Amino acid sequence: MTQKITPLIAGNWKMNGDAGSFLEVEVIKDHLAANEVNAEVVICPPATLLHRVSVALSESVAKTGAQNCHSAASGAYTGDISVAMVTEAGGEFVIVGHSERRDGYNESNEDVRAKAIAALEGGVVPIVCCGESLEVRESGKAIDVVVEQIIASCPDFTNEQELVVAYEPIWAIGTGKTASSADVDEMHNAIRAALVKRFGEQGAAIKILYGGSVKPANAKELLGVENVNGALVGGASLKADDFWGIISAA
Ligand code: PGA
Repeated sequence: MTQKITPLIAGNWKMNGDAGSFLEVEVIKDHLAANEVNAEVVICPPATLLHRVSVALSESVAKTGAQNCHSAASGAYTGDISVAMVTEAGGEFVIVGHSERRDGYNESNEDVRAKAIAALEGGVVPIVCCGESLEVRESGKAIDVVVEQIIASCPDFTNEQELVVAYEPIWAIGTGKTASSADVDEMHNAIRAALVKRFGEQGAAIKILYGGSVKPANAKELLGVENVNGALVGGASLKADDFWGIISAA
């Protein structure tokens, strides 16, 4: 079931970043230009910085993405951005269904799926997030809940399109706690099996990222787990040295 997949390291700046962040972007760009890297690199800044970061990275192998999008093409959706706006700002990826949006904005699996469909139709790669709460983890139902969530949130896609999945246990996000390698292994294998069951061969090639307190100190171990095909990095993506430490661990 395992095949060689180039890892993806995606930085999710969340609601952080300002003019000073460009110094960090320049450092990452310089590291990427000077070193051979075994990973695809994506930075997802806030929407207001997406164009600037995309321009800053235009000569780099690193790509950019948005942290959210609307499923509609345009219209009366105050505060939202469309997939076409992401593309126009230079974004090639979009994070959909992050737990901070599922919890904070009541986004359902159907909402996330609609956003992922809009992304695919607009030529943008959706990074579809899933993950269980501590309560679910302690109830012993984490695998069932996450597999159900991911299957309900992922749309069908063609061979010309790319879909990425990110597993982020909610209790590990921004807490400094990470799931153990054994738990990550078990969950990623279950997600892989579900993706293969649902998508066949296409499901075997989907990148499954791990997220939740990934840092240079734990990146090598986490990225070494079977079916962990990269990382979705929050806090540690804000500092170039930390983010580079994770990229170079891939
Ligand atoms: P963290 O966030 O790395 O700060 O835990 C990860 C995420 O929410 O994507």
